[in-house]
Amino acid sequence: MSRSPLSWPSVLLPPLLIALSVAFWWRYHPRPEPPPMTDQALLRLAADTDFHNLDPTPAPLPWEHYTIQQGDLLTHLWKEQWQLPTATLYRLIEDADQGQRLNRLRPGQHLEWRADSDGRLLALRLWESDAEGYQWDLDGDAIHGQVLEKERASHRVRVAGIVRTSLAAALAGQPALAGAAGSVSAQLAELLPLSRQARRGDRFSLLVDVERLEGGERAYSAKLMGFDYQGARLQASAARFDDDRFYRPDGTSLLPSFWRHPFGESHHYRISSPFNLHRHHPITGRISPHYGTDFAMPTGSPVAAPADGVVRRVTRGLLAGNYVVLDHGNGYQTRYMHLSKVRVHPGDTVRQGQVIALSGNTGRSTGPHLHYELRMNGRPVNAMKVSLPTKGQLASDELTRFRNQYAAYFDFPADANDGTEVAHRDPEQ
Ligand SMILES: [Zn+2]
Repeated sequence: MSRSPLSWPSVLLPPLLIALSVAFWWRYHPRPEPPPMTDQALLRLAADTDFHNLDPTPAPLPWEHYTIQQGDLLTHLWKEQWQLPTATLYRLIEDADQGQRLNRLRPGQHLEWRADSDGRLLALRLWESDAEGYQWDLDGDAIHGQVLEKERASHRVRVAGIVRTSLAAALAGQPALAGAAGSVSAQLAELLPLSRQARRGDRFSLLVDVERLEGGERAYSAKLMGFDYQGARLQASAARFDDDRFYRPDGTSLLPSFWRHPFGESHHYRISSPFNLHRHHPITGRISPHYGTDFAMPTGSPVAAPADGVVRRVTRGLLAGNYVVLDHGNGYQTRYMHLSKVRVHPGDTVRQGQVIALSGNTGRSTGPHLHYELRMNGRPVNAMKVSLPTKGQLASDELTRFRNQYAAYFDFPADANDGTEVAHRDPEQ
């Protein structure tokens, strides 16, 4: 049996009929006549046209946002992702004063921009930090720039708690310190030997100036202003005075006073090489900073702690030889190199004047000497010139001022709540 092939008319006829009926409907379906173009309508049309001609700038689009990631290339983002004109980027970068900002983008920085509907850049903002940035406004060929700075508001907060696991954990649970708990805990740890002496059940109360940026929930910065720590092994309270140093309620300095030299004032040794950040290396001629002061001391001369502190490190290095690092609190650290003999161990508490080592000629050293370094918050400073905490006690007028400043804080009963500006929190769960 042969299959009968489909004939062409039977395939084409149905669509042809549909097409014809649509054409017929289109032609004869009654439609309203457009109203005749009146003079009014013509005028209106002309006005609309003029309006568009008079305002060639299409409405700006909303701000776009982007946070710079590791490995980002601005030229690539600009052209491929944001579809902005490359020529505009080069115009911004070529600006002698401000173009560098765009060449120095770092991961985490935030960019915002807005373009018009034709893809022309109207404005670009670069937030170099959470608080500061720069904005370029483009107006035809002109570029206007302005520095951006967010408003900051500072609030003094008081937080209190009990140490359960660690002070850091106790502070992390304080909403008033959100975003700054780590910094506050580090600031307190610079003042008190908490890592060794904090115990479960210790009570603390802190006074902190917390700074927030406009529109921000979390702290932008936090400055510890005072503390009261009542622990099983450690009891101390102190507050920050005008000179940025901490004093106890009776006006005595929390920090140890410093000797200028690490051997006291009864000895005298010649400085064989001074502190010099721009020292030229005698052989290579390159700049090779000298972060310490070298004293020409005969091997075996006693080296004394210039202030109370804790031994942070005792080590031996190829260059430094026998090497000791002391921590004196509040960001002060001293270092001693080329020693012949060390008399302390890591973790030891040392008193001002205590002999910690004997000088020598170990490591890379061209003759017996002591290399002595002072660092403040990690930065090497000239120990022979820098202002040192020598004030052991506030003068009576200073003490009056200090007490007035912190009257509410120091007279404050440990478990009461004194007001609105000050946030009080119950002890950590
Ligand atoms: Zn040296």
